[in-house]
Amino acid sequence: MKSGLFRAVILGAPGSGKGTISERIVKIFKMKHFSSGDMLRSQMSAKTALGLHAKEFIDRGQLVPDDLILQLVLAELRNAQQESWLLDGFPRTHHQAESLWKEFPIDTVINLNVPFETIVDRLKARWVHLPSGRIYNLEFNPPKEPGIDDITGEPLAQRIDDQPETVLTRLKIYADTVAPIVEFFRAKGVVSDFAGKETNVIWPNVEQNLRALFSRSASSVKK
Ligand code: AMP
Repeated sequence: MKSGLFRAVILGAPGSGKGTISERIVKIFKMKHFSSGDMLRSQMSAKTALGLHAKEFIDRGQLVPDDLILQLVLAELRNAQQESWLLDGFPRTHHQAESLWKEFPIDTVINLNVPFETIVDRLKARWVHLPSGRIYNLEFNPPKEPGIDDITGEPLAQRIDDQPETVLTRLKIYADTVAPIVEFFRAKGVVSDFAGKETNVIWPNVEQNLRALFSRSASSVKK
């Protein structure tokens, strides 16, 4: 950890609560949130050469090539030399992890482990009003009338990528691709594992862990 700057990576399957946990981390610890997916989406909407090239892969559900994503993400990180940050969505391959580490040694890798059955159940309970994007959850936030949007009275649907078989396929792909990355960082001694079924149970452990790392960083600055 150099001069009080703090660099973290967050890893978690789709539906693991990674989005919520990332939001809380950057707010509480005043870190910059870098999401490789958001970087790519903004390149695509600006129709840059890189964005148009990346779109061909993203539309097919494939990872964009390493050289392209490395160029984009490392350039953003070089522009944030004086900031603490949380990196989300990157690295997605062993090569990306190695290239990141060479230039930016990472202080901690937050590895979220939520059982796949829990994620499938969570997404099964999710229904959407497709025209507006309004999301309901049958457990926490049900519509007033089953299957009907509260505002328009139109029918609710399940997104294809939230259907159990599709979710399982996405989760298996995630498990296969994340394994070598976790292994790489584990060998460097920077992985913290957080397991649980609910974000609100996992979160206090993540927060406590980060507070401990931050206070260590602050005391190393004072010395
Ligand atoms: P996300 O919002 O993180 O799910 O990213 C959306 C899409 O962008 C992914 O499905 C990939 O096609 C691409 N993408 C995002 N991050 C990376 C990365 N680190 N390496 C390769 N492709 C990526």
